[in-house]
Amino acid sequence: MTSEAFDAFAPNAIPDGVLVRSGRSTGRLAPGDLDILSAEERGRFAAFRDPVRAARFAAAHVELRRFLGQALGCAPAALRFDRHPCAGCGRAGHGRPYVRAPRTDWEFSFSRSGPYWLCAAAEAVRVGVDLERERAVDPSSLSPAILSADERRHLDSVPPEFRAAEFIRCWTRKEAVVKASGIGIEAALGEIDVRPGQLRAKVLHTVPGCEFDNWVVTDLPAGTDHFSAIAVPALAQRKYHVP
Ligand SMILES: [Zn+2]
Repeated sequence: MTSEAFDAFAPNAIPDGVLVRSGRSTGRLAPGDLDILSAEERGRFAAFRDPVRAARFAAAHVELRRFLGQALGCAPAALRFDRHPCAGCGRAGHGRPYVRAPRTDWEFSFSRSGPYWLCAAAEAVRVGVDLERERAVDPSSLSPAILSADERRHLDSVPPEFRAAEFIRCWTRKEAVVKASGIGIEAALGEIDVRPGQLRAKVLHTVPGCEFDNWVVTDLPAGTDHFSAIAVPALAQRKYHVP
């Protein structure tokens, strides 16, 4: 078995029209799994020195292809991926990923951490997901460059023993928003307030060339010691009334 499901998401955690799937790699690949991957993905798989990390990488990409193949009604191996130009600097290579073939208006987002993977897809709806492992926090990451004033106040209000976890949860929400907007690591993270005190919040984040500037970000339940979040344009959500 390539992968096992690690969580069933509560339906009310998933935005309207969005499909979400997640799992945990067993560290082993099934026969034929590598045939599903592109030559480029197989090249990246072969470049890993650690066979367990290689298998996790391949398993996650196989599962992403199965997930999107099912959503789009095509063979997983037939999918071709590309990236939009970066919304920050305009260069190719690190913008928002998209499905180039088959031609489709489905959007997707994908995240991986250790053995865990998470993907989301929606027809004509921007989506961003992030998955992060809980870990010790470098105090410099609590700087104004990364956290808004309100977020720092929120972290200060949390008992010290939970502060690192709360920071990672906040970071995960930011990553989901910037992945949906397409700017990635060039985003001015300190200016994005993801309101981590609320499970679900409306977030203002404006990126040049992006038609959306209001996002709904929601925590998704992840296994113990992991955090995950999903962001979609606020306009796409009729289901939630987010103040
Ligand atoms: Zn860029």
